Amino acid sequence: MQDIESLLYQNRLLTEEVKRRIDQLAAINTVATSVSQSLDLNRTLKTALQAVLNVVGADAGGISLIDYEAQEVVLRAQHGWEHDFTNPPMRVAVSSGMSGRVIASDNVVLDNNLDGSEELAVPRFHDEHFRAIAMAPMHARGKIIGILSIMSKKTEAFDDEIITVLKAIADTVGVALDNARLYENSVEHEQRLDAILQSTADGIIATDHNGRIHLINHAAESMFDVSARKLIGMPLRESPIHPRVRDSLLFALSSDKGSSKAIKVSLDNDQVVALSVSPVYVESQVDHGKQTDGWVIVTQDLTYMREEEMARTEFIRAAAHDMRNPLGVTISSLNMLRDIVKDVADPANEVVGLALNGVNRLQDLINDVLNLEQIESGYDVNLSEVDIKDMIREIGAEVRPLLQERSLTFTTELPDDLPIPQVDRKWVRRAIVNYVDNAIKYTQSGGTITVRAFPNDMLLHIEVVDNGPGIPKEAQSRLFERFYRVTGSEKIRGTGLGLAIVKSVAEAHGGGVYVRSQKGKGSTFGITLLMAGAP
Ligand code: ADP
Repeated sequence: MQDIESLLYQNRLLTEEVKRRIDQLAAINTVATSVSQSLDLNRTLKTALQAVLNVVGADAGGISLIDYEAQEVVLRAQHGWEHDFTNPPMRVAVSSGMSGRVIASDNVVLDNNLDGSEELAVPRFHDEHFRAIAMAPMHARGKIIGILSIMSKKTEAFDDEIITVLKAIADTVGVALDNARLYENSVEHEQRLDAILQSTADGIIATDHNGRIHLINHAAESMFDVSARKLIGMPLRESPIHPRVRDSLLFALSSDKGSSKAIKVSLDNDQVVALSVSPVYVESQVDHGKQTDGWVIVTQDLTYMREEEMARTEFIRAAAHDMRNPLGVTISSLNMLRDIVKDVADPANEVVGLALNGVNRLQDLINDVLNLEQIESGYDVNLSEVDIKDMIREIGAEVRPLLQERSLTFTTELPDDLPIPQVDRKWVRRAIVNYVDNAIKYTQSGGTITVRAFPNDMLLHIEVVDNGPGIPKEAQSRLFERFYRVTGSEKIRGTGLGLAIVKSVAEAHGGGVYVRSQKGKGSTFGITLLMAGAP
């Protein structure tokens, strides 16, 4: 009988213990559910406190967070207090008062019998007339992030069971608060970055690795007269920005992935834009096998520089013009003098010849400097549809006398269906003429010069091929620099600016230049031009 009674008693105790545990778990669960509802830090603080007080049945509570930088404990939420300690938030040094003890011991601090004689970090706390208090450390990511406190107006209010629940709840609340704080930090960071992007004067467009636009700032919107709302999510290829800009960008994105590119694009309305395209790499633990994670395009409207450029070019043009006239007079006088001294003694003839040579070179130099100045200013580029085949044939006809003089053969390789690009007629002609002139100048008599053109993706290639002397490898990378001449060319008339002009023409058309050559085996000089509207 005795045994059965004791068994029943034991059983009742066990059932009570199980019930208590279940209640504790339910309490923790209730708090966990309510704090995970939001990522807003202030809201999470409030809901967490409310849920805790409901669960443990305390009169009041507070949540403090540790400001590690200031080494202070800051009260961020309170409930059931007479005075407001959160506005401005009460700050207590991490080492002082009861909260200091919680942090130092990393454990719950309990006082079930406050009688007003306690040494408090904040004396005004006495006015709250609490008679019991329990404070638990809140942990997240391995450290104490704050303190969860519960208070009662009655002594002996908090038993072991409540303390156990409080301890467990404190960590649940801690993790939720830490998440909310992390989220808030990242949102704030994002907003700050966005504000910087939006307020910069340069246009910025960012795409993913497929060329789909995911960011465009105000400056880019107004520069290209497009709205971000429409563009976000759209592939760059389909975006309604100026075809020439779009094609230049697509070309930069598709060619030679992984390197940055700078392009200058002239639009039909005298607008000149500089585009800089750079790949973006996002550090990630997952290797997704992509070459880049996207691209960032920085655009600058250079149109405002147009007037300055025009004034500068105008000055150089005027100076060159003023020099040309006296030079012209000098040249014709020297020519007359040459006719006069033709029959006289040889030395005079030779001196006149030297003088003529000198002024002719000066004239070439003035013309080339002027050309380079104009094309580099970017504003003297007027696009129209140009039949490159016709242009090449015209150039061939023009240089026929020179070819005959040097016994050179001129041929062309031009496909019937060569696309008609939108280019500047005057400048593209200048570029081809410069290549052809060089081929004529440097190829020994009896040689052959071939001009060919062909499309390749979005680019139109024009190549001038000769079987002349070729160019040594080490000189090839410097050929397109201003005033660079290969050693040994001194005897042939030239300024060293012809190829620099071709390069500038190519760049003004979103293209480039190249050379393939082998010493003794001839050279191939190429220029590429971006064809607006190409597929
Ligand atoms: P230049 O006025 O001296 O011809 P360029 O800029 O046109 O100036 O050319 C630079 C140099 O490149 C030339 O001085 C010459 O040495 C070399 N070059 C250009 N075209 C050819 C060619 N077709 N064959 C061999 N060398 C060439």
